[in-house]
Amino acid sequence: MGVPDFDALANAGIQRLRAYDPGHDIVALRQRFPDAALLELGSNENPYGPSPRAREALLDCLPELHRYPDPLGTGLKQALARHHSLDASQVFLGNGSHELLMMLAQAFAGPGAGVVGSEFGFAVYAIAAQAAGAGYAKAPALPAVGAMPRGHDLAGLAAEVDESTRMVFVANPNNPTGTWFSTSALDEFLSRLRSDILVVVDEAYLEYVTDEALVSAISLLPRYPNLVVTRTFSKAYGLAGLRVGYACAQPELLRVLERVRESFNVNTPGLAACAAALADEEHLHSVARDNAGEREWLAAGLRERGLSVAPSQTNFLLIDFGREAAPIESALIHRGVVLRPMIGYGLPNCLRVTVGTRQENERLLRELDQVLA
Ligand SMILES: *Cc1c(COP(=O)(O)O)cnc(C)c1O
Repeated sequence: MGVPDFDALANAGIQRLRAYDPGHDIVALRQRFPDAALLELGSNENPYGPSPRAREALLDCLPELHRYPDPLGTGLKQALARHHSLDASQVFLGNGSHELLMMLAQAFAGPGAGVVGSEFGFAVYAIAAQAAGAGYAKAPALPAVGAMPRGHDLAGLAAEVDESTRMVFVANPNNPTGTWFSTSALDEFLSRLRSDILVVVDEAYLEYVTDEALVSAISLLPRYPNLVVTRTFSKAYGLAGLRVGYACAQPELLRVLERVRESFNVNTPGLAACAAALADEEHLHSVARDNAGEREWLAAGLRERGLSVAPSQTNFLLIDFGREAAPIESALIHRGVVLRPMIGYGLPNCLRVTVGTRQENERLLRELDQVLA
């Protein structure tokens, strides 16, 4: 019996889709470089780990693992609502914010609808739009200043909007560029946009921001009912393995999203650990402070070596080597140093590096010196 052409059997949007590229096979690399010899700087994980309180809360729920999680996630939603001065009905939980981005497109975009994002925008936005059957248009990023930075151009995004547009995805700060725009620039963008276009502001790195011109777009929710802000516990909270993210928006909007939510999308350890992590503000602040210091130190070290580094408000840096980065990347892999290739983003001369601890950053620079020599 012949194997059917499954590609042809797939929904139209999915036929054209390429799966998200998670970078290297990290498990295989860990086997190749045992005993912590692998320097994992490819996925923007938090090298300091989560709050110890999150670990305790996680262990406390082990006796309950035969039970389903709270399908409403009420405890975590209430904690988040208090944290952001919102009502719990304005908070929606996801299995990571990746799931929320997919669900938003599934619920609010579809065949015939247009979704707008930016050049060098996060790869998941195009996947979410196409998986929903919608079109995805990319607005050009800001022109390069020197080699960098090339952040979102909000005027360009507005110009890309047409009759069919139903959603706009922006990350602030953005991955993979690390660039950002001010809250007042976002405010102006929103004030000019049709109010029936959903604007999703992905704030996966917001906790790392040190520029006072950028505060969370959650502050704009009362004025823009079409705004959705997504956040995650994967980055600054150091809980990427638990897969918990959340969206803040109007209750009426979230009630629509609720229709496509898998009933137990956030697991029991995730609910418990994230509520505990949220309560430990001291840990979060120390992570953000250490990251900001290391971000500056590492950027200076890279620039001393003649490399271009985009300004960043995140826990990663985009490095432009001024030549094809693939040979540098593979030489680093041979030495057990994992960075993220950027060729899929149309940035073949660039690699993205997660800001590590001082010890990790020192090793990175040492290995880079060897490779570039
Ligand atoms: C890491 C990241 C996410 C978060 O993903 P989770 O699914 O919450 O782990 C979302 N958006 C951007 C831009 C990211 O870099």
